[in-house]
Amino acid sequence: MGADPGTSPAGRVQVARAAFDSGSTRSPEWRRAQLCGLRRLLTEGARELEDALWADLHRSRTESQLTEVGVVLSEVSHALRHLGRWTRPRHVPLPVALRPATARVVPEPLGVVLVIAPWNYPLQLLLCPLVGVLAAGNAAVLKPSELAPHVSHVLARLVPRYLDAEAVQVVEGAVPETTELLEQRFDHIVYTGGAGVARVVMRAAAEHLTPVTLELGGKSPVWFDDDAHIDAAARRIAWAKFVNAGQTCVAPDHVLTTPERVEPLAGAIRRAVEGMWGKDPSRSPDYGRIVNTAHFDRLIGLLDGVLTPGEDVVSAGDSAGGAAGSAARLLSGGGRDREALHIEPTVVAMPAPDDPPAVRTPADTPALMAEEIFGPILPIVPVPDAAAAIDHVRAGAKPLALYVFSSSKRTQEDFVAHTSSGGVGLDVALVHAGIPTLPFGGVGASGIGAYHGEASFSTFSHLKPVLHKQLVPDTLRMVQPPFSRVRRALVRAATRRA
Ligand code: NAD
Repeated sequence: MGADPGTSPAGRVQVARAAFDSGSTRSPEWRRAQLCGLRRLLTEGARELEDALWADLHRSRTESQLTEVGVVLSEVSHALRHLGRWTRPRHVPLPVALRPATARVVPEPLGVVLVIAPWNYPLQLLLCPLVGVLAAGNAAVLKPSELAPHVSHVLARLVPRYLDAEAVQVVEGAVPETTELLEQRFDHIVYTGGAGVARVVMRAAAEHLTPVTLELGGKSPVWFDDDAHIDAAARRIAWAKFVNAGQTCVAPDHVLTTPERVEPLAGAIRRAVEGMWGKDPSRSPDYGRIVNTAHFDRLIGLLDGVLTPGEDVVSAGDSAGGAAGSAARLLSGGGRDREALHIEPTVVAMPAPDDPPAVRTPADTPALMAEEIFGPILPIVPVPDAAAAIDHVRAGAKPLALYVFSSSKRTQEDFVAHTSSGGVGLDVALVHAGIPTLPFGGVGASGIGAYHGEASFSTFSHLKPVLHKQLVPDTLRMVQPPFSRVRRALVRAATRRA
């Protein structure tokens, strides 16, 4: 970074703060103008953005519209439609003993919000939070991911053209720039990405007592038992898993089902994959690529940790990280091309976990089943029944999403009631993450806080309580000393009624 304080990360934060301090971002007109500007950026800049997404992730134009541009546009429309209601002070009732008085909750902007985005949906995950940040009247500093450089460059160019060039700053760069940003004081930080960096972000935020929203990941499981609808379910599972080559935070990580369903489900998933991306997905313009060689090597390591290339049945115990004496089987896919960063949609049948989840140790668990896969490899894990699947889910970290494809309403509700996850999809996967009326976020290890729609507005606002109790008549005297017998009785009666 050069010496110009206006373009250094710290300098950009100062510019954003000065814009916020000027008061300009608070007015309803400014908020609406920014949201309309964002909408124009997305529509007029659509082609450039789609080209950048293709260059970074091999994402087709249609898929870019569906999973990136369209999601942000629907957030913008939703915010514009509801902004009036969200920003209006909300009057609240008061206990009788406090009357006469009035109380309201007044939403006020927090200040300058830092948005740190990852590479996998580099547009959506930077701009969706921004919708809420602007709707709530804040200034913003946007940090796109350096691992999606084309999208990062296009946004750095377009954002100042369409949005308030002072109040909305873009800082491009990698660890040094983010580190410099994190040394500055923000009023809120939204970070989307892995748990390791989330700790760095939270530590830095703690220095300034800055609140954080952490949108993380995890191993989102699927339960399947709906034999009558196996093809429809398999198609939804396959689509959710293999879109963007599996690099989706809410993608199914693995499937839990009973042993006799493993093969039929894998067959249905294979047919679904072929239907969507053809016999050779490497030739499909609609199938994504792995973001870089480091992630490619990590994924192949996970797969080869349970399989030996060229063999479809191996003892996982023979390979690094495998569970002793257990066999993992390649059911479909497995093809890879490092130069093209291509990994075929792959389904692996895992051995049944012998021990109850509570006694399984990390050393017994292959890396494929221990860490978030975040790529196009789908293990199917046989378990005796839905209750065992629930135990399995409960034994792990709370996932970002959980999906249930079951013919039984009771089983669906058992998963909802007895497991904890960021969100749940019943007979559907992925889609809940793009709906502005549903809050989106993790729980436990999968994240802190939520956004989208009104949840964004609340996250990026301070909901300030304002109480007015007029001086005349001065009924507050009744609870002030000295406490005569009458007052004591009154206080007792009033506190019991309240
Ligand atoms: P990434 O590598 O792009 O990193 C995310 C951001 O952190 C980038 O802007 C990067 O510059 C910054 N960063 C990296 N190292 C840093 C450091 N040492 N100090 C400060 N900043 C640093 O993305 P990633 O972490 O590979 O993202 C993948 C993870 O994100 C997966 O776990 C996935 O599940 C999760 N994810 C979650 C969501 C969600 O909405 N919950 C969405 C997408 C991805």
